[in-house]
Amino acid sequence: MIRLNHDLANKLGIDVARLGSPEGLAILSGNQLADGSEPLAMAYSGHQFGGFSPQLGDGRAILLGEVVRHDGVRHDIQLKGSGPTPYSRRGDGRSALGPVLREYIVSEAMAALGVPTTRALAAVASGDKVQRECLMPGGVFTRVAQSHIRIGTFQWFASRQDYDNVKVLADYAIQRHYPDAQHHENPYLGLLNGVIERQAKLIAHWMQFGFIHGVMNTDNMSISGETIDYGPCAFMDIYDPLKTFSSIDHQGRYAFANQSSIGQWNLTRFAETLLPLLDDDLKQSIAKAESALGTFSDIHQTELQKRYTAKIGIEAGDTADWSIVEALLVAMAEGNADFTLVFRHLSDTLESGNDSLVISLFDQPDAIIEWLTVWRARLHECDHSQVVSLMRRTNPVFIPRNHRIEEAIRSGNNGDFAPFHRLNDLLQHPFTAHAEFTEFEDAPLPNEVVHATFCGT
Ligand code: AMP
Ligand code: MG
Repeated sequence: MIRLNHDLANKLGIDVARLGSPEGLAILSGNQLADGSEPLAMAYSGHQFGGFSPQLGDGRAILLGEVVRHDGVRHDIQLKGSGPTPYSRRGDGRSALGPVLREYIVSEAMAALGVPTTRALAAVASGDKVQRECLMPGGVFTRVAQSHIRIGTFQWFASRQDYDNVKVLADYAIQRHYPDAQHHENPYLGLLNGVIERQAKLIAHWMQFGFIHGVMNTDNMSISGETIDYGPCAFMDIYDPLKTFSSIDHQGRYAFANQSSIGQWNLTRFAETLLPLLDDDLKQSIAKAESALGTFSDIHQTELQKRYTAKIGIEAGDTADWSIVEALLVAMAEGNADFTLVFRHLSDTLESGNDSLVISLFDQPDAIIEWLTVWRARLHECDHSQVVSLMRRTNPVFIPRNHRIEEAIRSGNNGDFAPFHRLNDLLQHPFTAHAEFTEFEDAPLPNEVVHATFCGT
């Protein structure tokens, strides 16, 4: 056992002591079945980097079963890396330890930041070695999700023209995730609207924190609206809208600022699977789907605007405020400024009246000096203590920086999990500065910068 998420186990009504016992460990490493568990691997298809793969599925994951949380919300419990399944193709069904630690750190950090996400229940070392570029220590990750239904799950049936089962799946997804859609005059349109709304807001929420998902294939987009699949994801250090990390994203398809349009592209693939359910007449179906998809941009942009104007201390900002945000982003991109530090230091600047710290984050100071004047003028009539408080609730001190994740993985691979635990502990309170952890606020030194991430397959 490397780490067990007590808080999450309690919320799910799982007995922590039992989970931490030898029996629990045997279950979490895939060596023993829990009573009543009927494990299954799910089939799905998906567009990967734009190309359609009809035959994917849980190749290194297995669903153990479901638990119902105190508030009635049902959750899947899934092992990742416990061995081959019918969908493993030529893979080994295993996971190296690195991706296990990475998913644990980042998914729990996202949860603490308030972003809808799958969660980490446990990370265990398998004791075996797995063959990747070289032999690496293996691990098993236990993931908790509101469900593992993906856009790709719908595509599995739709691409086989099996619309009876698209309907079964849609009815199931409505009942599990969008019960209000049952009362919609067209429940399947209600489902489509619901998924569009949650995804549009989710992607804006990622962007609030400089998060790059990295592999927004349709099989990695959850119908429940949770962030899923923490393969090559990363938080930006220096702000760059075209930033990618994934070692296989050569064209920048999943770059930071492209996430908005890719979200809509993925939802269009989802809408296609529902066409036969939306109306008996195909033309009508297409019109309904197009009109639903047309709402994506507005929902996403409104959410983005709300989140970004809050980052500069403006509640319920308008279009003029959005231009102030855009000017800051341009100055940050041109000045190679650290995304997280700029926003956090702006609230300090407002409090202290000393601009030098924030200015020092920029290569070229002119643009930010000019911007600070505009920003101060905008806030002239606001109550500064309220502004600072909004900014500090919106701009984290701590994000899981890539060089820290790499450090935790490196140590973990050598059997030392102290850096992994420390990172997880401090990321549980991302908005609160902590004297003991100031070095975790810092951007990487030039020799610490991580340039590429890998999906770990
Ligand atoms: P991902 O890049 O994690 O979204 O995975 C893409 C596909 O490859 C999914 O169908 C996975 O189940 C499958 N896959 C990834 N790693 C392995 C592995 N080690 N063994 C078998 N299948 C895998
Ligand atoms: Mg995946």
